[in-house]
Amino acid sequence: MRAIDRIYIDGAFVTPHGEERFDLFNPSTEEKTGTVRLADAEDVRMAVAAAKRAFPAMRDTSPKERIEMLHALRDAVAARADVLKEAMALEYGAPQSFLAFSVPHAAHVFETAARTVADYAFTRRIGNAEIIMEPVGVAAAITPWNSNIGFICTKLATALAAGTSIVVKPSEMSAIQTQAVLEALHDAGLPRGVLNVVNGYGHVVGAALSESPDIAKITFTGSTATGRTILRAAADTFKRVTLELGGKGPQILLDDADLDRAVPHIVASAFRNSGQACIAGTRLLVPEHRLAEVSERLGEAVSRIKVGPPDDPDATIGPMVSARQWERVQSFIRLGRKAGATVLVGGEGRPAGLDRGWFVRPTVFTGVTNDMEIARQEIFGPVLSVIAYRDEAQAIAIANDTEYGLQSYVLGADIERMRRVARRLEAGRVVLNEAPSDSQVPFGGFKHSGIGREFGPFGLDAFLEPKAIVG
Ligand code: NAD
Repeated sequence: MRAIDRIYIDGAFVTPHGEERFDLFNPSTEEKTGTVRLADAEDVRMAVAAAKRAFPAMRDTSPKERIEMLHALRDAVAARADVLKEAMALEYGAPQSFLAFSVPHAAHVFETAARTVADYAFTRRIGNAEIIMEPVGVAAAITPWNSNIGFICTKLATALAAGTSIVVKPSEMSAIQTQAVLEALHDAGLPRGVLNVVNGYGHVVGAALSESPDIAKITFTGSTATGRTILRAAADTFKRVTLELGGKGPQILLDDADLDRAVPHIVASAFRNSGQACIAGTRLLVPEHRLAEVSERLGEAVSRIKVGPPDDPDATIGPMVSARQWERVQSFIRLGRKAGATVLVGGEGRPAGLDRGWFVRPTVFTGVTNDMEIARQEIFGPVLSVIAYRDEAQAIAIANDTEYGLQSYVLGADIERMRRVARRLEAGRVVLNEAPSDSQVPFGGFKHSGIGREFGPFGLDAFLEPKAIVG
């Protein structure tokens, strides 16, 4: 049983002023694994004050000094890879495939940020003016549970690249993972107060950060509903805000697609991170005349997916993070049936052989229309909706008929045609045939999927203010 009873302020692990405790669970077994002592608004005040004290020295660091800090963080995270994997497996139930990606990724984001700093023009000239890209001020980060370690590292990396200090509020459901990554980050020996981490509830700690007059910038990843609340709270003090929110990504399968290649891509995009991914491609748009063959291939592929705990090396889908998330997915599967969609594979309940743990059956619905709730709402579990289309124009219209606009996918054989379709999609990112992306490529959403971009120079811009000195 773990008792997480410290937060991190001014370079030290300290006991929070807040006294409330929150239970932590292993989602693969439903057993309680520990508790976290939650911080309160007084702790936020202390953390923000520490970050504020650290800001002037951080603002004055050279790009070279920032790169050195980023490299130290990269090495510190890489050195603890085994501990981080263990924490993610215990508290999140991440399958081996996700662990193999996400822990190296958490170290790599510091390398990416260092590269961005090395190439970034922090001073520029326009006519008779010198433009200086200055850090915006003390930053706050609020992060979700579905990739806790990765989000903490990404947001810290960007803040340091910009030359600012940060207060991080991770999801209260990820306290064991937060503790593990924090011990690694502490080893990097950052100056005091540059990094502060405060566990706590969103409506307490998150709200206090959103309102604080000493925070100039909020970077948030989480649900669209919470993003809206943060945006409102941040307005009073004119905070700069980056919001990475939900998605309902379409995957457009063009009629010339080779199914041997496309079906594995479709399955990977729909079910990545056990379906608990904002970028999951959860609406599959299929040409009417290929529906029968696509359904057959998809049914076979999804019924072969192994669901199980992290210590099952063949499992590629793990449990949902909580009982609440499990119920949410079940209720959407029921909604899909009620609306008249057909369960091609999966359905309600647990997969065979798993009677404990918040495991769900990977589910594919056919006969879905884009007005059904399962096609409109972000389910955040392994549930894919198949929607038929007549022609390319209709596929694009259906793809764009959503409040979201985070990541879309196009699958086909003709690259020029896929690019033409991609240019018409309302999304911050469009992936062609599951191509991997360079880590500096901007990421973020159109419409209700967010505001601003992360990673590379676009991500760095969002932590900086241009100051023009004229004459
Ligand atoms: P959530 O919005 O419930 O919580 C996210 C964070 O916000 C948590 O730390 C939470 O404590 C905090 N929070 C809650 N209420 C708050 C308030 N009133 N003020 C300030 N902070 C508050 O999201 P979640 O359930 O943890 O995560 C799942 C969601 O995150 C999904 O909608 C998913 O799409 C989204 N997400 C988006 C991205 C992206 O990059 N676009 C990536 C991953 C997850």
